[in-house]
Amino acid sequence: MGTGGARNWAGRPGWRPKAEHHRSLDVRRFAAENMLRPGAWTWRWLDPATEQEVASISIIGTVGRLTLSYTADGEAIRTEVAIVKTACGFGGARPWFQCPRCGSRVAKLYLRAKRFACRHCHRMSYASQSNDICGRTWGKQRKLEARLEANWQRPKHMHLKTYARLLAAILACEQARDDWLAGAMVRLMGGLDDLRKRFPDLAGV
Ligand SMILES: [Zn+2]
Repeated sequence: MGTGGARNWAGRPGWRPKAEHHRSLDVRRFAAENMLRPGAWTWRWLDPATEQEVASISIIGTVGRLTLSYTADGEAIRTEVAIVKTACGFGGARPWFQCPRCGSRVAKLYLRAKRFACRHCHRMSYASQSNDICGRTWGKQRKLEARLEANWQRPKHMHLKTYARLLAAILACEQARDDWLAGAMVRLMGGLDDLRKRFPDLAGV
């Protein structure tokens, strides 16, 4: 393990595990607690009424990566979550979790069926093509991004031509997801039109 000491982090009042169906991790809270750096941490979920711990996980932080260790239904699980950053504003960087399942950048990961993954993955685990399209393009984009420095910056040794080609390929991945979403909206609106024809009461909706 790298540098950094052990520390316990107590959940805050207002954290309401009972209000949610699933326990979650929020990268913004981790950032606020300065946990996105090398070190060993414990994340605890508290019962808001009694402030008693209801669950906890151990976290080992290394550069750009967290290793989560926890027990779910008697099974000891260890899983890795990458931390990625995107540029924002004037030189700042916003951290994200990279969903271990689909590779999307997300602020929150949810624990369900023993695994942490994004809301989308957990919801769509029994459905449809959106997951495939998002997963495929994210997987491809991740590989492309791995060849660049943080925030899509050009590595010093990389030719401008190569850099331009990589950037274009990354943008194409983003575009593919945008297109899919736009298509989904069109399909949804088409579905609404059909419903209005079949149910005149919906005409004004
Ligand atoms: Zn996901």
